[in-house]
Amino acid sequence: MILPKNHRLTDAQVAELTAIVTEFGCRIQPIVGDVRTIYAIVGDERHELMINRLEGLPYVDRVDTIQSPHKLMDIKSDLASHRVKVGGVTLGNGQLLIMAGHCTIDPKNPHLFYETAQAVKEAGAHALRGGVWKPRTNPYAFQGDHKSLDILMEGARRTGLPVDTEVMDEEQLKLALAAGVHVLQIGARNALNYSLLRQVGAAIAGKPVAVLLKRGMHTGTLNEFISAAEYIVNFGNPNVILCPRGTQPGLDGYRNQPDEAITPLLKERTWAPVVVDPSHSVGKAAYVPACALAAVAYGADGLCIEAHVSPSHGLGDDPKQAITPTVLAGLITQAKAVHALHRPVAVS
Ligand code: PEP
Ligand code: MN
Repeated sequence: MILPKNHRLTDAQVAELTAIVTEFGCRIQPIVGDVRTIYAIVGDERHELMINRLEGLPYVDRVDTIQSPHKLMDIKSDLASHRVKVGGVTLGNGQLLIMAGHCTIDPKNPHLFYETAQAVKEAGAHALRGGVWKPRTNPYAFQGDHKSLDILMEGARRTGLPVDTEVMDEEQLKLALAAGVHVLQIGARNALNYSLLRQVGAAIAGKPVAVLLKRGMHTGTLNEFISAAEYIVNFGNPNVILCPRGTQPGLDGYRNQPDEAITPLLKERTWAPVVVDPSHSVGKAAYVPACALAAVAYGADGLCIEAHVSPSHGLGDDPKQAITPTVLAGLITQAKAVHALHRPVAVS
C-alpha cells in the first residue's frame, strides 16, 4: 500500500508508480477515501527492490506491506481514518445509524411501503430498507419483483431518505445503480459469492454508493467476513458496512444464533463500521428490541431493522419479524441512550 505525501497523486505520478510495479508483476489500484487516496499494490508486493524504488520517489511518504489477508480492511490500514456515510449520518462519529423498512416491498400495494417509509422517518430512521429482489429458501415463495424498484425510489423521493436493497446478480446490480439506490445489500446467502463481491466492487468504484455486507449465514468466520469486504474495497470504493445478522444453526426458538457479540471482535480487527441486523438474527418481532439494544451495547454503529406499518399485511419476513413504527420509535429512544452510554470498558 503506497501512502502519498499529498492527499492524492497526479496522473503522471500514478503512471510512474504503475510502470515500476508492472515490472514486478503487480498493478496499482487507487482507493479513494474521504480524506485521502491511497494506492494499493495488487499482486505480490513483497519485492524489496520494488519497495525501495517506490519509497525513493519524492511524492511517496511510505510503502506499507501489511501482512494481513485483508490489508485494506485491517485496523492498521491507512484506510482506518475513512468514515462511511449513509445519507446524513457519518458512521462511527457518535451518531447511531438507523435503517428500517420492509423485508419485501409488495408491488401490488405500494402505499404500504410509502406509509412505512414516512412512519419510520418520523420514528427517527435515517435510511429506508426495502427488498426488491428476494433470496427465498422456498422456490415457490414470492421472489420479489423488479417493479418494486420504482416503489423503493419513490419512497426515497417522498421521504428524502437514502435507500438500501439487496442485489444478487449483475443485472440487479446494474438496475439498482441506474435507479440511484444508495446502499447495496449483499445478503447472507451471497456473503461468500466472490464473483458477486467482485462485480459489486467494480460497479461501485468511483460512485457515492455504500455496501451493506451481511455476515455469511453459516457461522461465517471473522476472517471470511472481513475478507469478503476486502474483495469489494480493493476495487477502489471503501464504503463497506459489516452487518452481523445471526448464524445457523439457530438458537432453539430464534431464527438464527444471535451474533451481535461479534461486534467488538470485528472492531478490534477492522476499521469498518458495524450495523447489526437484529430482525434476521432472532426472527420474531417480540425479540427484536432486546437484540437491537444488545448490539448497541456491544458497540454497533447502527441497526438495520425490518419495520412495517401493518406487519400482517407484509410479504417475506415481515409478518413474523417486522416491528411497527411505534415500537421502532421506542426502540430508537432506548438505543440512543445505550449508545450515548457506551464507552469501551477498560479491562486493565
Ligand atoms: C433481508 O435483509 O431481507 C435478508 C434476506 O437478509 P439475509 O440476507 O440476512 O437473510
Ligand atoms: Mn427479510
